[in-house]
Amino acid sequence: MVSKHVSRTKQHAALTADFPLSESWFSEFSPQKFRTRILNWFGRHKRDLPWRRNRDPYAIWVSEIMLQQTQVATVIDYFTRFMVHFPTLSTLAAADEQSVLKFWEGLGYYRRARQMHKAAKMIVGDFGQQFPTNLDDVLQLPGIGRYTAGAIASIAFDQPTPILEGNTIRLFARLLGLAEDIRLPATQKVLWGFSTRIVAGRRPGDFNQALMDVGSQICRIKQPDCLSCPVAHFCRAFATGRQNELPNSTPKHEYESIREAAIVVLRRQTALLRICQNGERWAGLRDFPRYSMPAKNPFAELRKKFERDYGLELGLQETGISFRHAVTKYRIALSCFVGQVHGGRLRRSEKFRWVPIQELDDLPLSTTGRKIANRIHDFS
Ligand code: SF4
Repeated sequence: MVSKHVSRTKQHAALTADFPLSESWFSEFSPQKFRTRILNWFGRHKRDLPWRRNRDPYAIWVSEIMLQQTQVATVIDYFTRFMVHFPTLSTLAAADEQSVLKFWEGLGYYRRARQMHKAAKMIVGDFGQQFPTNLDDVLQLPGIGRYTAGAIASIAFDQPTPILEGNTIRLFARLLGLAEDIRLPATQKVLWGFSTRIVAGRRPGDFNQALMDVGSQICRIKQPDCLSCPVAHFCRAFATGRQNELPNSTPKHEYESIREAAIVVLRRQTALLRICQNGERWAGLRDFPRYSMPAKNPFAELRKKFERDYGLELGLQETGISFRHAVTKYRIALSCFVGQVHGGRLRRSEKFRWVPIQELDDLPLSTTGRKIANRIHDFS
């Protein structure tokens, strides 16, 4: 009994060192019991997800990158299709970027796909086609931050590496009753510290996945189901009735409304498409020529800009077709014009070309580019 007490006291001392929490909370908290409850819950409620069917680090990596900013339900189909076309790290590394983007089309945040492709090439070149097991090596790969590295290392390699993402941030902030803004570096430090301490133990991969599942299914953003929560016993927010007030986060950024014009130019069953350049939205994907909507004389201004960029003189007609789309902080209202070539010659450039209309289905297109392509016959 004495040794158990001493070890518990040491554990609490270690935990409290980095935490602005009272001794009384830690005297109630048993990391071992916490882990057992979480893992038992996972045993009963684990979701059958395609990336959970084996411990292939490549598959786990693909799923983790797709799950950033995207719901599980949306990712399932994308993941399944992606793994059919790029079943191994080397097939992904050998693929061309356009085909990788094609299988990402619609998931958004395309930089994730381009960086993953780049990282696959690095792994093939620098690590003998084997996903690195060393956390520092993993963190050197493009597009892999502390969370993703921790998830892969714990799930694929059973390393006790911490994770912190939306669901676990909310769960931990409520458990710890943190009133501080979760976006502050000091609060993040507390949360990472908590995650690091509790992951040490058996089955760290299952434990981390269980935490994320408890966060997403029980400790939901709205109306957390505290009565079904396996760790309600430890929860400060629940004990003090603050589960709907926490976590404390700064207001979301303001959205910016912008108006844009797309110009659809068709010629003998082809359409003029451009490749979005680095630094632009949808970099690497194809799109129809697009401009910010000029505040004055839109027809004359758009014709002038188009001729400057593409070398073609156009007659422009408004189509009445428009789309609304949200991307990052922008709310885009896109008006579509149709352009008839009246003169000039298309400039030679890698950045744009005539694409046969029947190939539009096979090319990676921007979100609104796809919407236009789906109605391409309305523009002829
Ligand atoms: Fe979240 Fe409620 Fe569980 Fe606390 S008791 S962790 S608020 S679900």
